[in-house]
Amino acid sequence: MKNEYLLNVIETVKARNKGEDEFFQTITEVLGSLEPVIEQHPEYIKAGLIDRLVEPERIIKFRVPWVDDEGNVRVNRGYRIQFNSAIGPYKGGLRLHPSVNESIIKFLGFEQIFKNSLTGLPIGGGKGGSDFDPKGKSDAEVMRFCQSFMTELYRHIGPDVDVPAGDIGVGAREIGYLFGQYKRIRGAYENGVLTGKSIPYGGSLARPEATGFGLCYFCDAMLRANGESFQGKKVVISGSGNVAIYACVKATTLGGKVVTMSDSNGYVYDPEGIDIEAVMDIKLVKRGRIKEYLSYRPNAEYHEGCKNIWNVPCDIALPCATQNEMDLEGAKTLVKNGCKVLCEGANMPCTPDAIDYAMANGVLYGPSKAANAGGVSVSALEMSQNSMRYSWSFEEVDAKLKDIMENIFAASAAAAEQYGMPGNYMAGANIAGFQKVADAMMAQGII
Ligand code: NDP
Repeated sequence: MKNEYLLNVIETVKARNKGEDEFFQTITEVLGSLEPVIEQHPEYIKAGLIDRLVEPERIIKFRVPWVDDEGNVRVNRGYRIQFNSAIGPYKGGLRLHPSVNESIIKFLGFEQIFKNSLTGLPIGGGKGGSDFDPKGKSDAEVMRFCQSFMTELYRHIGPDVDVPAGDIGVGAREIGYLFGQYKRIRGAYENGVLTGKSIPYGGSLARPEATGFGLCYFCDAMLRANGESFQGKKVVISGSGNVAIYACVKATTLGGKVVTMSDSNGYVYDPEGIDIEAVMDIKLVKRGRIKEYLSYRPNAEYHEGCKNIWNVPCDIALPCATQNEMDLEGAKTLVKNGCKVLCEGANMPCTPDAIDYAMANGVLYGPSKAANAGGVSVSALEMSQNSMRYSWSFEEVDAKLKDIMENIFAASAAAAEQYGMPGNYMAGANIAGFQKVADAMMAQGII
């Protein structure tokens, strides 16, 4: 990058956010793509647009005390980042995982600004979570944690202010406990305050499926634009959570054969194609480990550790577990084994050198902020349904989701083309997502 203004902003971010590697990683990637846009818009520099964009509007950090089943007092740390409200109320998930810290929440919040903009829906960027680990906790412990978390968070959110949703470790159970506590404290039935709710109290049909389905709709659009399809392709998926499960369902429906799934302990390889009913039973019903897959399909293999999942030869790789799960070595192995498509279901699952290597070797690359925007899209549709006090059928929501994902692909491809980088969907997504936010920020003055 040569643009002095952007280089200065990057230096300032580094100095101001010491040790926040994930945040710095996403800032460098996004600003790297914006260079040609900034060159064409000197008015952005005058308005300090990028200086403002990289600084969150607000970060809330709080104590979350709760009592475990043995009567011990436990204390976790809660976060909510309200990054950018130029185009709508803050919107983004809550992550419960021991690795959560300020850097992770900031990186996720920053990505969310552009992802939400790409959906074409009126939602700003936010994110939140806690270093609480739901793994191994009883339902009662999870409930007490969620109630304590919401007892602080409620004063900062609202249907027109900030609308959290699920992410790693936060599914329908947690959203239910969080909503129950919000309603009790607010004394009002504002179900538009959270998305990812169950159907009986305002959830949207197709929300659980949305991120995984949306990923495959995006990937399918990218394949078709390049004269290909899912038909007959071997697919490697990492993770076995919400995103991975429904990506597996849709990739299979579109004619692909998914041969792997994983969790943080290891991965399974099933040459006959993953039996998704078995994975759903293990993960969604029993909250068990992926290793148990072998008791359903004795001919499958289980491998300890997740890193080697990229050694499994495939045509399409869909990383759907967590950030930086694929490094350069993983990308090299994929390319060596003939992989042609890399599309990100998780947020920032590939390291920058892995992405560069894949793209330099002709792999079609779908970046997470575009490819996994299906979840937040249906979350925004859930907000619309809550506002209307009405609900759409599964087919209606699914059709809107497909439309949105195809539009995101088209917008990313068009922006890449416009700025002389045809096929670079990463740059295209960054630029297309940025443009709408930039226009809104310019219109609203220096705030
Ligand atoms: P879940 O909690 O449902 O599942 C996460 C999966 O990833 C689990 O299989 C988990 O295994 C595995 N995993 C977590 N951490 C690691 C790790 N360090 N190494 C290897 N595997 C790991 O989360 P989601 O499916 O909802 O989210 C997955 C990714 O998709 C995240 O990056 C999230 O931000 C992103 N995303 C999710 C959206 C959604 O709608 N849910 C929307 C957009 C993005 P284990 O059970 O062992 O922890």
